[in-house]
Amino acid sequence: APLVFDFSEGDRTQVDLLGGKGANLAEMTKLGLPVPPGFTVTTEACRYYLERGEEPQSLRVQITMALRRLENDLGRRLGDVVDPLLVSVRSGAKHSMPGMMETVLNVGLNDYSVKGLAEAAQDERFAWDSYRRLIQMFGRTVLDIPAERFEHELDAVKARAGVATDVEIPVPALIELVEEFKHIVHDATGRDFPQDPREQLDLAMRAVFNSWNTDRARLYRRRERIQHDLGTAVNICAMVFGNLGETSGTGVCFTRDPASGQPGVYGDYLSNAQGEDVVAGIRNTLTLEDFAALDPSSHAELTRIMRRLETHYRDLCDIEFTVERGKLWMLQTRVGKRTAAAAFRIATQLVDERLITSDEALARVTGHQLAQLMFPQFDVDAERTLLTRGMAASPGAAVGKVVFDSATAVAWAARGESVMLVRRETNPDDLEGMIAATGVLTSRGGKTSHAAVVARGMGRTCVCGAEEIEVDLAARTLSVNGTQVAEGEVLSIDGSTGEVFAGELPVVASPVVIYLEQGLDAALAEADEQTGELVRSVDRLLRHADQARQLRVRANADTAEDATRARDMGAEGIGLCRTEHMFLGERRVLIERLILADGPEARDAALAELLPLQRADFVALLEAMDGLPTTIRLLDPPLHEFLPDRTELAVRVAVAQATGRGEEPEVEKDVTLLAAVDRLHESNPMLGLRGVRLGLSVPGLFAMQVRAIASAAADRIAAGGRPVVEIMVPLVGSVMELHLIRDEMDAVLAEVASAAGVDLHIPIGTMIELPRAALTARRIAEAAEFFSFGTNDLTQTTWGFSRDDVEASIFATYLDKGVFTVSPFESLDRDGVGALIRMAVQAGREVRPDIKLGICGEHGGDPDSVHFFHDAGLDYVSCSAFRVPVARLEAGRAAL
Ligand code: ADP
Ligand code: MG
Ligand code: MG
Repeated sequence: APLVFDFSEGDRTQVDLLGGKGANLAEMTKLGLPVPPGFTVTTEACRYYLERGEEPQSLRVQITMALRRLENDLGRRLGDVVDPLLVSVRSGAKHSMPGMMETVLNVGLNDYSVKGLAEAAQDERFAWDSYRRLIQMFGRTVLDIPAERFEHELDAVKARAGVATDVEIPVPALIELVEEFKHIVHDATGRDFPQDPREQLDLAMRAVFNSWNTDRARLYRRRERIQHDLGTAVNICAMVFGNLGETSGTGVCFTRDPASGQPGVYGDYLSNAQGEDVVAGIRNTLTLEDFAALDPSSHAELTRIMRRLETHYRDLCDIEFTVERGKLWMLQTRVGKRTAAAAFRIATQLVDERLITSDEALARVTGHQLAQLMFPQFDVDAERTLLTRGMAASPGAAVGKVVFDSATAVAWAARGESVMLVRRETNPDDLEGMIAATGVLTSRGGKTSHAAVVARGMGRTCVCGAEEIEVDLAARTLSVNGTQVAEGEVLSIDGSTGEVFAGELPVVASPVVIYLEQGLDAALAEADEQTGELVRSVDRLLRHADQARQLRVRANADTAEDATRARDMGAEGIGLCRTEHMFLGERRVLIERLILADGPEARDAALAELLPLQRADFVALLEAMDGLPTTIRLLDPPLHEFLPDRTELAVRVAVAQATGRGEEPEVEKDVTLLAAVDRLHESNPMLGLRGVRLGLSVPGLFAMQVRAIASAAADRIAAGGRPVVEIMVPLVGSVMELHLIRDEMDAVLAEVASAAGVDLHIPIGTMIELPRAALTARRIAEAAEFFSFGTNDLTQTTWGFSRDDVEASIFATYLDKGVFTVSPFESLDRDGVGALIRMAVQAGREVRPDIKLGICGEHGGDPDSVHFFHDAGLDYVSCSAFRVPVARLEAGRAAL
């Protein structure tokens, strides 16, 4: 199979094979846009190389042939002494990983071709500048020489020549710099800088392959849940030069603002510059308006192309371009990354512009993005000290202690601090620190800088290019407009406005939450134009999702207050009301009495005291959820959770006894309590006396709860309400357990109904949270009117993972080694736990066609998992109130 494709051969659908960059270069070539010619080495070649440590046999020849075609088309030869062809060797994986992987420009230059290039371009400065860039980039990325060694030398040459920027370095100094760079290479590697152009190309390609597996690339993939085995393609592309004097330059632009979603093009341009100069923030960039003034015809063509690309891709595109002596070249495009707010706004804008349908718009926003929009923002009414302003690079309100390097950010965050990572500019090595920080603040670079792009990608709040900030790394302080801020002091940044404040600013609810809780009008009343557009867009897409979805969305809520909030968020019922909280606080003594009861009489007395309290809880809950299904789970956790801590108790008893107070009634009570704690102690409480097992071994406990629920329902009916209540039995593994407990429960239900003289229809169902329950679902369905998958326990018991233990001990290793790309507690394990769910769904429906099927684990609010539950054909998902809108949106997307 071919391992090399010419740009003229592929198209944008081939991202798996050609990577995103390669596929889109091919697409632009197909559209007839001005793309420098070139070819792509496939991801397959990379995977082969990474597995075996050497390139596939035929790759060399295929590259030779592709290179020859390129040379013939352009009438120039790679690295020739006369008018040489130069190429770039560029990484490009399926998923864009901004700045994570390597690219080498100006490949083909050596001591001879540099002169040929100078001659052909009639520009010596340009040729030597290109050569020094090659050695610098090649040295760093291919030969692993620390970048500082080159940068240090570059600074030294600038200082000696008495100039401030790279473009002003005179030719003799540049030639000298190239010599110095070659020395650095020789010194660091013991070899000369390779003069053979083809060897340069081959080594650069290998470096790109290898860059797939750098620590930072692996870390990035882990975060973004990208598989580790995809590999990257390599694009070999004829060079065009933005560093050919003032009529040349290079830039990055977006067809809409990727930070806010505001319509209108946006970009940065730097004249007399090459490639990464724009993103690295080495000199201050121009806006597109400035570019229009500088080079009207290139700007006009760029504008035409931007429009063309947006209509073609029907989405926000981001673009890299270069102007070589007044001629525009397109070097890259892709559907651009964007913030959550921009995603929503752009999706509805495109519907209004008739470029996409409402279904497509819904497909383009995600639950993760919606969740981000629900985060709090700074309170506009709070007192504030504005220190300075930078660019609004990635929205959010972040408050944190200032740190100046990535390692400190990681260390402080690990001990639970919120940190604000402040850097002159970030580079890919800062990734860990950016992940650890709550906010990122840089003093250089525009909205397209590394910090901005990466922060937006991961939803991290970021303000960039706050130029008034001077960072003094040695003193570990920053100064801004006369104010000093030392490491450890607090700053607040607003990533939606670019503002930087001293100290900690208070935060308030986001307009999206106001919309969800109080409705559209209330949210619009307080919003400015852009926020208003955002809220409207969320409203439109959520309503569209509600229409499209087949899954119902319920909430996990334990109190009337939670239930009300869940209803506001759009919950259509409660999928899980945990009753255990009703036994905490002041009521703890009552359950203690139950546990310590020395006979049936004492036990019944304790239960009788609990009954009215439970009943009142349920009345309030059913009132809040009037008309909507409410599933109440009987007591689940092991009893010892309601008793005091063993160590504390033992110490108290020991001290009392040692001081001769052993006879006091208080102390005697403690002694009994301690005995109970010891009696109930379990080494694996998660697998011990809990759930239905508790119901079967503590007579009257479940009956009391059922009586409270049934009486509450009767009370509500008497009050004119419409309670729709369901009772759920936890931790069933055998149908026998359910039959036994049902006998007791059914009797109570019948008794309450007849006493109250009402027709109580209260279905009884079970959780499916043990593998055995899933495996014997056919039997269990005989006794259960509904199943609710308890995916937290089901994941624990299927994997044999104790969640509290493994997340800290083994998951980092497993994620790194690719055992899974995401924790199975965060996102449902489709192959294992999912298979059990599918099995139980099928069995349940066969036995009882009208069985109701839901899920109430934390996975109910996880976007990926919601798609699985839709596919598995469940009736509803249940999740925390705050995740309800996320689940609604994702359920709608799943149904598209
Ligand atoms: P990244 O994926 O990090 O953006 P790229 O492969 O796009 O890396 O290249 C880095 C920079 O070099 C970009 O600004 C790009 O536009 C520029 N560049 C790449 N190839 C060429 C080329 N053939 N001619 C001129 N500039 C190039
Ligand atoms: Mg690029
Ligand atoms: Mg459970």
